[in-house]
Amino acid sequence: MEYPDPRPTAEEQTIELSDAQPGYDVLIIGGGPAGSSAGVFTARAELETLIVEDGRSTLRKCAHLENYLGFPAGVNPSVFRTMMRDHTATSGCDRLQKPVTAVSPGDDTRFAVEVEDTTIRTDIVLITSWSRIEYLEGFDVETTVEDHGDIEVLCSDDAGRTTVTGLYAAGRIAREPHQAIVNAGAGARTARTIIEAERPEFYNDWVVPEGYYESWNRTVPPGVEEISHEERKARERRSEAVMQSYFARDEDGRSEE
Ligand SMILES: Cc1cc2nc3c(=O)[nH]c(=O)nc-3n(C[C@H](O)[C@H](O)[C@H](O)COP(=O)(O)OP(=O)(O)OC[C@H]3O[C@@H](n4cnc5c(N)ncnc54)[C@H](O)[C@@H]3O)c2cc1C
Repeated sequence: MEYPDPRPTAEEQTIELSDAQPGYDVLIIGGGPAGSSAGVFTARAELETLIVEDGRSTLRKCAHLENYLGFPAGVNPSVFRTMMRDHTATSGCDRLQKPVTAVSPGDDTRFAVEVEDTTIRTDIVLITSWSRIEYLEGFDVETTVEDHGDIEVLCSDDAGRTTVTGLYAAGRIAREPHQAIVNAGAGARTARTIIEAERPEFYNDWVVPEGYYESWNRTVPPGVEEISHEERKARERRSEAVMQSYFARDEDGRSEE
């Protein structure tokens, strides 16, 4: 049986500004662990999601990522960033590699987000952009200074809500500790807050064995996929092939990433 590689091609991973839709349900500023993790959840909950990032995740400064659960011997941070980016793509996010220059109140939506000379409309903005938020000047949003430095960070509640309706925050810029898995978790948690507000029916994001819900006399809820034994095995084989492709080396021992 063939198990096609579901990794998106380089061309598919990042869209051009001209291909960005004029409006999205959720616009995430920042594509590090916090923003990427959030995007996986919002896109899987069928919220049209755009991640705008300028390609400068702090993870670029890490020499070897050793404290991210699931990588017992650590992982090359560059490979990990590629895996994060690909995961947002396979989950259905659009991703634009440009800096956001301004966020202002929109006319027919809550926010108008400026990227170069293009305005993108959205009702929900999730800020994960370490270490810049000067593009929020038009909003009376509560900020503070980070605990161990002098960066201005956003104040938010435990669910990622800032003091401006529709404006959420996660990751380092929301005063989280400086570890990738903490920031990814914060992104996922804030995404859940957004989903509970916008798509409350998507309270589970699960893949379960065929017949699981029937065995409880329940219909399969939105956000849950039941798969057959054959499909389960096919996905397992595909995931093994994809994971191997990230760590493949050529015959001279060079990484193919
Ligand atoms: C030297 C060093 C070593 C580290 N080593 C480790 C380690 O071993 N293990 C560990 O767990 N953590 C480590 N960290 C910390 C880890 O890198 C961060 O905790 C993590 O990357 C933060 O995730 P984040 O998503 O909040 O922010 P980031 O990963 O910094 O992502 C921020 C995103 O915002 C984007 N952005 C910023 N401004 C704009 C704008 N105007 N428009 C659009 N996008 C914008 C950036 O491009 C980026 O995509 C290290 C950090 C440093 C500095």
